[in-house]
Amino acid sequence: MSDVVALYRLQELELDIIERAKRIKAINAQLDDDEALRESAAENEAAQESYQAAEARVRDMELEIASSVEKRQNAETRLYSGEVTNPKELQDMQLEVESLTRRKSVLDDELQKLSSERDELRDKAEETEARCNEARELHERESKELLKEKETLTESVNQKLARRKKSVAAIPEESFKTYNRMRVAKSNRPVAVLREKACTICGIEQNSIVITAINRGEGMVNCQNCGRILIRL
Ligand SMILES: [Zn+2]
Repeated sequence: MSDVVALYRLQELELDIIERAKRIKAINAQLDDDEALRESAAENEAAQESYQAAEARVRDMELEIASSVEKRQNAETRLYSGEVTNPKELQDMQLEVESLTRRKSVLDDELQKLSSERDELRDKAEETEARCNEARELHERESKELLKEKETLTESVNQKLARRKKSVAAIPEESFKTYNRMRVAKSNRPVAVLREKACTICGIEQNSIVITAINRGEGMVNCQNCGRILIRL
């Protein structure tokens, strides 16, 4: 195998490793991103709190009604007990019973309103809870799949790194140094394929001297424009 072919294969291997490493990085970012999950949990928490508060308002109103009913019953009991004979006092008691009866009617209306508010908030809380559970299940499922993919990728990257080490060892040092020096400036592609007469990376056609040198396999020949090492496959 010529040095150029060996370098080209090394480059392909390195690009493959870079792609896999990028995917691992993206997976890590995705695994860390639980924003959707946190948002739906916060929404659910707020909905549950609103529902509980509405439930408490209903219970308070029921207690108030019960206490009002008890008060009226006591007033009525006294009114009809025959114990009170003073007409002024009897009239006052009669008015109190009437007032408590009107009050009960107002409170009943209020209770109905609060109950229907509570029912609406309960429905909403049930919806947000279901959404929150769905989001959690989805996140867990996705995380599981991502972790599996990451594991496979990591394993293949390790294998490829070991292969790279062997490949580098088999390339003459000077050739590898030349390649390595160009790597950063050439965006990890120091070797370019020549198609017809043009460098496939920068697209520039090469003159006949370059073409002849490549066709004869005369060592490393560089692209006249981008300087990459040219290879004819
Ligand atoms: Zn070029």
